Amino acid sequence: MNRDQMLRALKTTKEWDIAVVGGGATGLGIAVDAASRGFSTVLLEQSDFAKATSSRSTKLIHGGVRYLKQGNVGLVIEALKERGLLCQNAPHLVHHLPFLVPSYHWWEGPFYGIGLKVYDLLAGKLGIEKSKHLSREEVLEKLPTLEPKDLRGGTIYYDGQFDDARLAIVLAQTAAKHGACILNYTKVTGLIKEGPLVKGVIAEPDIEIRAKVVINATGVFADGLRKMDGQKNSSIIEPSQGVHLVLDRSFLSSDTAIMIPHTDDGRVLFFVPWLDHVLVGTTDTPVKNILLEPKPLEEEIEFLLTHAKKYLTKHPERKDILSVFAGLRPLVRSGSESNTAALSRDHVILISDSGLITIAGGKWTTYRKMAEDAVNKAILVGHLDEAPCSTETLPLHNSGPIGHGEKPLHPQLTLTPAHIIRAVNEEMALTLEDVLARRTRSLFLNAKASIEIAEKAAHIMAKALGKSAAWEKEETASFIAIAKTYAAIL
Ligand SMILES: Cc1cc2nc3c(=O)[nH]c(=O)nc-3n(C[C@H](O)[C@H](O)[C@H](O)COP(=O)(O)OP(=O)(O)OC[C@H]3O[C@@H](n4cnc5c(N)ncnc54)[C@H](O)[C@@H]3O)c2cc1C
Repeated sequence: MNRDQMLRALKTTKEWDIAVVGGGATGLGIAVDAASRGFSTVLLEQSDFAKATSSRSTKLIHGGVRYLKQGNVGLVIEALKERGLLCQNAPHLVHHLPFLVPSYHWWEGPFYGIGLKVYDLLAGKLGIEKSKHLSREEVLEKLPTLEPKDLRGGTIYYDGQFDDARLAIVLAQTAAKHGACILNYTKVTGLIKEGPLVKGVIAEPDIEIRAKVVINATGVFADGLRKMDGQKNSSIIEPSQGVHLVLDRSFLSSDTAIMIPHTDDGRVLFFVPWLDHVLVGTTDTPVKNILLEPKPLEEEIEFLLTHAKKYLTKHPERKDILSVFAGLRPLVRSGSESNTAALSRDHVILISDSGLITIAGGKWTTYRKMAEDAVNKAILVGHLDEAPCSTETLPLHNSGPIGHGEKPLHPQLTLTPAHIIRAVNEEMALTLEDVLARRTRSLFLNAKASIEIAEKAAHIMAKALGKSAAWEKEETASFIAIAKTYAAIL
């Protein structure tokens, strides 16, 4: 992906078929779908790709075992199908992961065992391995750090795991390969209107971008664009914050994840091995402020530490947190879908009188289906020529592994200068935080180590971008300011 080329395309194109606002899972998925159907497509992201919710997930490509408990079978079937398709189209990005549901009460084994057999059945021919019951001894052999007191056994099942920010970049690269113009750091500040109809967007710094259809894929920020469209009193988003802690691998010391379906206060909790670390999450806290960089609350950190101590024999303390990150779920207020095209129980698509299409809700796992639904609507709204969706079988971009041999910048990180150069040259990374938070996951895996190498990394980046020493200093300082929150220095 080349930013200068993208900016040239933006200047020389008089009217796009589809303009997408928002460069998270939803917007990037739409850009892939629209461009691969042959529509001229532009995507505008105010910050970096996946800066908001899409880099802060639990990193699971899953049917959502918990929706089964709620009886939401339709949603589980849809997500399981999408899980299978993504494993098929991006085997370099998604891999299978075993999850153990431990039983501490006599009824839990049969209860979860039956539920997970239904999960297997619903996956059909796109299923992974079948779930199975394990004895207490077998469970402890797989998970030596699981709390053994009162443990009776467990059930093992399979789901997919991925690196969310990496998939976002790959979607951007796939869309670009199909001719889409994809821009980060381009904020939409207004809509172009002719009479009552939306005819494009205005982006910073005062660029007019005309399009036959505009799709609002701004996640938790969706109400902002709807306000620009004149929908002043109808907010549809009710954000809920979810926090994850990252710990050293020794706390789990297994390739099997733990899934606790029901903590004593009714939440789902995961302990997941991820990139040689352990993710512990998540919380569910309603929030009012919608921020690009949401802050974990003290009580959320405490909740996760307390529960980690309940289920793990090695008890993590505050000092053991390598990183902590918060994300906002773009939950759609119930009732918002009245008089709209609600195409799935998990995401909604609203079409305003001006023709602005808003897509909200959903999850990473279902981004492809969400994109297909949104582009189908865009064809109708923009009177575009019919073109079938091809993403069910479309392979996603694969840049291949990065060359080995260089020494990592820090003994606790895998980051090498080659990662930084590739991020700058091929992945449109513009800031140090783009490189350390999303092109590589250094910040999410070990915030303190990332702070320690910030200056060195900024220097390598400045050389690749041709930036000054003053830029280096500024980038280092602003990265460290953000990274302190991840390092739990609150
Ligand atoms: C804690 C947590 C755990 C999760 N775990 C999972 C999981 O394991 N598996 C799963 O499938 N899903 C999971 N999800 C859900 C999934 O992460 C989200 O559904 C998905 O990332 C939402 O993507 P999005 O593109 O709609 O929103 P976002 O990623 O928020 O993207 C919206 C983008 O729009 C941009 N934007 C806003 N306003 C403007 C503007 N004016 N101009 C230009 N750009 C703008 C923002 O900067 C942002 O980048 C989880 C979510 C959370 C919060």
